[in-house]
Amino acid sequence: MCAAIAGANAGCPELAPSAHSDDPHLIERVSWLRAAVMGANDGIVSTASIIVGVAAADPSPRAVLIAGGAGLAAGAMSMAAGEYVSVSSQADLEGADIAREQQALQEDPEGEEAELGAIYEERGLSAETAALVARELTQHDALGAHVRDELGLSEGQAARPLLAAVTSAVTFSIFASIPLIAAVLAPQTSVISVVVLTTLFALAALGALGAQAGGAALLPATVRVVFWGGLAMAVTAAVGSLFGVAV
Ligand SMILES: [Zn+2]
Repeated sequence: MCAAIAGANAGCPELAPSAHSDDPHLIERVSWLRAAVMGANDGIVSTASIIVGVAAADPSPRAVLIAGGAGLAAGAMSMAAGEYVSVSSQADLEGADIAREQQALQEDPEGEEAELGAIYEERGLSAETAALVARELTQHDALGAHVRDELGLSEGQAARPLLAAVTSAVTFSIFASIPLIAAVLAPQTSVISVVVLTTLFALAALGALGAQAGGAALLPATVRVVFWGGLAMAVTAAVGSLFGVAV
């Protein structure tokens, strides 16, 4: 665990495989699912909004295609960069905390063991049992115990900047291509209505997919995604038509 978080050279011992390998918990999906849903949602909404906004001002296929394509490329890159930078700062923070723990364990092993015991006591163990558990876990893997039980970090939720960046860029691109393809295939006179309907349908599917993957209720998640996506498109279309009138 601490190797996954603090890096291979942090001198962490090997850990036993997860007790739930036959029944992995959904929480372990958090790092890539969050990036995937955010990438997908952003991809659909921002590209569809750009297309609807430009089509409101100038519905020519060339203008729509250039705007949609540029929006997809720019969005995917900025999403990846944003995810990489933000998740890297989370990884830095986690790594710094683990290094501080390692130092505290070297400087004051008794105090750290007592601190661990206090954590288990707070969780409901008797003072005697808590001290025994702290002693045995300290002997087995002191740093692992503190990382897990004091810092609350687990391998499944460790910050993985590259995974987050690639996941969000790929999902952004895949989902951004939905309104773009709809715009290309739509007759010039109904680009906006075709893109809006396709996008709302895709958002509903994404909301349901995200709820399914996250083990959440389908309807609230779907309504939430469709509402905010629809609102974003409406605002951009209004701005685009204002520009259309002005130009
Ligand atoms: Zn500690």
